[in-house]
Amino acid sequence: MPAPALDDARRALRDCFGYEDFRLGQKSVIEAILAGRDALAVMPTGAGKSLCYQIPSIVLPGVAIVVSPLVSLMGDQVRALVQAGVHAAYLNSTLSPAAQGRVIERARAGEFDIVYVAPERLEDARFVDFASHARIALIAVDEAHCVSQWGQDFRPSYLQIGAFIAKLSARPAVCALTATATERVRDDIVRLLGLSDPYRIVTGFDRPNLHFAVERAEPKRKIARIAAYALEHTEDSGIVYCSTRKDTEAVCDALVSAGVRATRYHAGLPAAERAANQQAFICDDAPVMVATNAFGMGIDKSNVRYVLHHNMPASIEAYYQEAGRAGRDGLPSECLLFWSEKDLSTCRFFIEQESANEELSPEEAEAVRQTRRRMLAAMEGYCMTCGCLREYLLRYFGEEVAAGGPAKCGNCGNCEGGFERIDVTGEARAVMRCVQELRGEWGKGMVADVLRGSKSEKVLSFGLDRANAYGALSHASAAHVKDVIELLVAGRYLDVSEGKFPKVGFGPNFRVAATPEFFLFMKRTARKSGRAGAGG
Ligand code: ADP
Ligand code: ZN
Repeated sequence: MPAPALDDARRALRDCFGYEDFRLGQKSVIEAILAGRDALAVMPTGAGKSLCYQIPSIVLPGVAIVVSPLVSLMGDQVRALVQAGVHAAYLNSTLSPAAQGRVIERARAGEFDIVYVAPERLEDARFVDFASHARIALIAVDEAHCVSQWGQDFRPSYLQIGAFIAKLSARPAVCALTATATERVRDDIVRLLGLSDPYRIVTGFDRPNLHFAVERAEPKRKIARIAAYALEHTEDSGIVYCSTRKDTEAVCDALVSAGVRATRYHAGLPAAERAANQQAFICDDAPVMVATNAFGMGIDKSNVRYVLHHNMPASIEAYYQEAGRAGRDGLPSECLLFWSEKDLSTCRFFIEQESANEELSPEEAEAVRQTRRRMLAAMEGYCMTCGCLREYLLRYFGEEVAAGGPAKCGNCGNCEGGFERIDVTGEARAVMRCVQELRGEWGKGMVADVLRGSKSEKVLSFGLDRANAYGALSHASAAHVKDVIELLVAGRYLDVSEGKFPKVGFGPNFRVAATPEFFLFMKRTARKSGRAGAGG
């Protein structure tokens, strides 16, 4: 039998799915699998990952096993395939044991091109027996990032997959797919699934029609900014994401009383009201949707012109997914993120509070918290960076960015906006002297409190009001002092320890005498430098 060629794949694309052309990345992944090579495909949600394994499943002899954690979606996926004339089935706990037995028997008889399974199934004796005697076309691992403790949805059951594949007598090509994989997660996927020299592709993350911008806004000012934005864009449809139900209600009320046709969506509303509001948004009766992150799954409204964030999300992954709901029609659209220090501390609080998942040991739970801390730090970096926001996002997702020279997309707030240079050499020296005096035993908040001469109980009870540094920056706002601390951390003059109570200590470049000059670059549109008055 001749090796199945790309022509067969094209025919399947047309005949089964009704598409003329492959999308970016699909063709090369399919070619790799057809040639028997392992593959790792990182593409955003909606890019068309499923076809990357569905088409080879149809073209190659034997049955494809698709491992997916999304048990609730398997039924839909299989129904769609069956409608397209593909012989597909799924095996999971929603089927009765008898029905599972029938699926396995039919699979044994070679009736299926594709069988979807949950990862737990790979330990089931009956399934293992079937798999070890069947002709397996390929194994696809969907949501492959679940195998990594560095990913956001680690699933211990995914750790079985590697062993399952290794035990097969004839090893087929293995294709791992995910929408979210930092370099660390990608390395874990390759290692833990035992991929051998996989074809790797990261693609489709850039959304050239989206304009990204970040604006720092004190919590009290945010609603006014959002209302002003919506009123400047009354002709447009937009989504405003809030981190809590309470904020969702407050923002929606403010917009409605400002005359914006807004509606709301969060898990606290009755299902009927959620459905009605969603419908009103989709048909543009209420073109502005104010919502928590509960809103958006499976919504495909193409003319969303802006996505505003009232709060900083906990990860770049979450932000990019939500912001990416703008401009699906390819027309210019805006993604504007408002944030404040308060958002950061709220996210931190939730990371530390998160009750341990029962499946995880204390060590594993700490590893998950550590990952979430890193993800939040990356999100914080996005808010603080003075560089191109698009480059920051694409780099985060591991996509190749134009080689050579500093990348500037020319279509983001940072590429366009000017920066104000503020000399903070004096403040920087004061901070370093303070850290030295406190011997690196306190966190950023305490360092700032001491410098600002706070009379808080904690400062007084530890006698820190007697420190030489006490009140040295009494004229500065807490936010400004923290900016200077961040600047010193970024330059490795100071280090922040990891863990629940991070302490500010000395970095490798620490030296109080002979310090260079320090400058903060503040966005012109952002809040004033905050040197006057003691806000915060
Ligand atoms: P992902 O798994 O990456 O989130 P899906 O596989 O669900 O994405 O595909 C998203 C949508 O894109 C689906 O509606 C799918 O039918 C469509 N699609 C996939 N490939 C193509 C293509 N080559 N041409 C047109 N539409 C496609
Ligand atoms: Zn840019």
